[in-house]
Amino acid sequence: MAENPKSNSLKKASIIAVITGALSWLGKWVMEKYFPAAWAWLYNKALQCILWITGDITIPAYLGVVLILFSSGFLLGCILILKAKLSQTLHWKSYTSDNFYGVTWRWRYSYTDDIFGLHCFCPKCYMLVDPHHNYLMNRYDFYCKRCASLKGYLETRDSNLNEIIIREVDRTIRSGEWVEKVKSS
Ligand SMILES: [Zn+2]
Repeated sequence: MAENPKSNSLKKASIIAVITGALSWLGKWVMEKYFPAAWAWLYNKALQCILWITGDITIPAYLGVVLILFSSGFLLGCILILKAKLSQTLHWKSYTSDNFYGVTWRWRYSYTDDIFGLHCFCPKCYMLVDPHHNYLMNRYDFYCKRCASLKGYLETRDSNLNEIIIREVDRTIRSGEWVEKVKSS
């Protein structure tokens, strides 16, 4: 089946992390070399910040409680927002239908990411279409009995129609075209 897009996003995240690191280092180097005064000021401010955070300060107990409550709420809010965002992220397994060769195909995925339960339907009346293999003309006809019309056909010498459609689905997942298709469905 298709390469797991999860490993792709992991790769992307690592690349972004490396690039960000390299750019930060380059930024520091440029600042130190060409803007030493600005760099010294920035460095001092950052140092002061760290010292202020780590240093001993006295605050009233009620303020401490308020601060703890406020930061806990803020953290909880961040976690909830992140969770909601993650659940909104599309998964390629939500891509379970598409139009190929004039008819609508629907399928499911197994735990091992294999496609099964592949069926085609009339795009107009949603009637199940039984593909007819025309051996003489080397083609599959997709005829809707309810609409009494030919919805589409596929010219091929390949006798395994399921394999052809699975390859189409696989290609759509690999190319990333599935995202737009799922969003527009
Ligand atoms: Zn129909």
